[in-house]
Amino acid sequence: MIGSTQAVVTGVAGFIGSHLAESLLGRGVRVVGIDRRPVARDPVAARNVASLATHPEFRLVEADLAGLDLAPYLADASVVYHLAGLPGVRSSWGESFADYLTCNVLVTQRLLDACAAARVPRMVLASSSSVYGGAAGRPSREGDLPTPLSPYGVTKLAAERLALAHARRVDTPTSVVALRYFTVYGPRQRPDMAIGRVLRAARTGRPLHLYGDGLQRRDFTYVGDVVAATLAAATAPARDEVVNVGGGSNVSMLEVLDRAAEITGRDFPVRREARQPGDVEATLADLAKARDLLGYQPVISLADGMRLQWKWLLSREPDDEPAPGTLGATAG
Ligand code: NAD
Repeated sequence: MIGSTQAVVTGVAGFIGSHLAESLLGRGVRVVGIDRRPVARDPVAARNVASLATHPEFRLVEADLAGLDLAPYLADASVVYHLAGLPGVRSSWGESFADYLTCNVLVTQRLLDACAAARVPRMVLASSSSVYGGAAGRPSREGDLPTPLSPYGVTKLAAERLALAHARRVDTPTSVVALRYFTVYGPRQRPDMAIGRVLRAARTGRPLHLYGDGLQRRDFTYVGDVVAATLAAATAPARDEVVNVGGGSNVSMLEVLDRAAEITGRDFPVRREARQPGDVEATLADLAKARDLLGYQPVISLADGMRLQWKWLLSREPDDEPAPGTLGATAG
């Protein structure tokens, strides 16, 4: 599929979607990118699509997937990478849940129906480590009973299960590979996520607010590794599979702070805050299935990945990046 015709990337103005689109274009694939963020008025979206916008094989469709007539965009697609979604564990409690349901579940349902109607052979779906609800003393395996601890995790699990149910229909031409991404970081990381906040605090010297005791551990995954796994998922021999995509080890938030101090050579104040509802104690991916099915092996260590993100941050004007805020350890 890669190297042929056209791919659709939903969530293309986001962190991971923009990296994926860049990589596809670099491989000679035409990309139709769909996102509801208004690039002209949203500086983060504008920054994310900046390098894509001028590429002759890239087309941006600025629209909400909840209402868009999808058929014209799927007609020539050999694969749909469905990365659009409302991420973030903490913000999914309360009234915003309706938007989480729409963006993560109802949109996925619409897209699955449209893919089947357009006879798209493969959908690759962004799921999340949040579906596990934490690692129970050992790396999480795809066959473990999912017990999400946040409304966000529940919607990602619902989307994943919905996609597998569609893929198991006897009459559908669309197979599905759902990838459970584990805490992704790297240049252009979402402003609410931990490593970016730490590095921005190092850059500005402003205080960083740390949720909990800092002992929560995350399997951090470099965005380049996530893109490699996502591309491999387009051609993997599969009908209806769920696969972990992690970095292969986990570290605590306190260790992240130490590493940031080493890499940046800068100091910044840390303020402790209460632990937040929905934050899990630890995440860690078992990568055996990713190795077997996708030939996946993470290649960027946390130290190298943080160096790359720091270098990228320094290349930006300080005012381009949101101020550091509260540091937690959101899983996605
Ligand atoms: P992001 O917020 O940077 O990108 C998501 C994009 O989806 C946004 O640009 C948003 O505008 C778009 N979108 C959301 N709802 C839409 C709708 N209704 N119509 C059109 N566009 C819509 O997030 P990200 O960190 O790049 O995450 C991408 C995907 O990966 C998400 O599905 C997320 O749940 C999943 N994921 C991310 C992580 C992580 O660590 N970043 C971890 C696990 C899973």
